[in-house]
Amino acid sequence: MVENAATEEIAGSAERRLSSQPRMIEGAAWVRDAWTQLDRLVSAGRLPHGLLLHGRLGSTMTALVETLARRLICEAPRDGWPCGACPACRQAEQGSFPDVHRLADDPDHRDIPIDAIRDLIEGAWFTRYGRMRLIVIERIERLNRNSGNALLKLLEEPPEATQFLCTVEHVDRLLPTIRSRLQRLRLREPRQAELADWWQAARGLAPEQARLAAFVDDPALLEEGELTFDWQAVTRAWVDLMAGRGNPVGVIEPWLSLPRPALARWLLRLWAAVARGRAGLPTEVPAALEASVEQLARSHDDEHWLAVQSRLVRFAREAGHPLHPELAVEQLALDLVDPRLPRRLDPGL
Ligand SMILES: [Zn+2]
Repeated sequence: MVENAATEEIAGSAERRLSSQPRMIEGAAWVRDAWTQLDRLVSAGRLPHGLLLHGRLGSTMTALVETLARRLICEAPRDGWPCGACPACRQAEQGSFPDVHRLADDPDHRDIPIDAIRDLIEGAWFTRYGRMRLIVIERIERLNRNSGNALLKLLEEPPEATQFLCTVEHVDRLLPTIRSRLQRLRLREPRQAELADWWQAARGLAPEQARLAAFVDDPALLEEGELTFDWQAVTRAWVDLMAGRGNPVGVIEPWLSLPRPALARWLLRLWAAVARGRAGLPTEVPAALEASVEQLARSHDDEHWLAVQSRLVRFAREAGHPLHPELAVEQLALDLVDPRLPRRLDPGL
């Protein structure tokens, strides 16, 4: 028995490990809604064989995919959830269930190379052990032309009893030939309050911190639920700029400490809160930001704020251009002070 367990552990791989995570799914309302839909399809035997889950990727989507995969191979699901006790459940938990073929996302979202697809195809045609083969491909938009074409053959003529479970975040980047062979289920976008609940329950953040994380809602700006920059200084700089305190170029110094795309996203988040405030709607900002957002909302008129938005959107769009970073941020500061003036600097030059 001991020897057997050891062999199983060696045979298992982290990539093939599938955890059943009902609590994670129950704790994220937008994922729970998708689960309800999937549960109905599975129960009715109507789950599409090429399923594409479209939505924000991250730990909640991983929980959804893994739990669904587990549900499909479980020999005796309980109330729609994997039982956790049958041989298939136990093997899947260890990553040694032979019918799982998976290409998990990697942190850099690199392309899926053609060799990975070849290995996948070879594995999929390998003797079937249970009632179905599962092919799991996360962030499937990572396929390039070569690996996409290779996968296409498998999608067109899969071995019998093959179930594809794929996820995508940017569906427009997915090769059209692949997209047309999958049936897409779109997960809805979470509301801010739902996100805050999730940060609190799943990540153990304090309520105020959870609200801030939900407001930011951007993995690139967060690490372990904490913002990766001095958001108070960055926000205050905008308030000072709008109040005309000091030289614009000096006031926005905290902005230079942030990568331009991150700065653009943060300012656009604040802009949206200001717009809600000006429209008489709740700003939905964490308490720590309320005063700043109110001050911003009181400064200037609607026309100004509309113009500010188009300047911010343009700054965001150009944030990847190799323009001198300081120059670009200083130009933005001047633009925000008077967004209706023609631009002084053409980044195309
Ligand atoms: Zn089971």
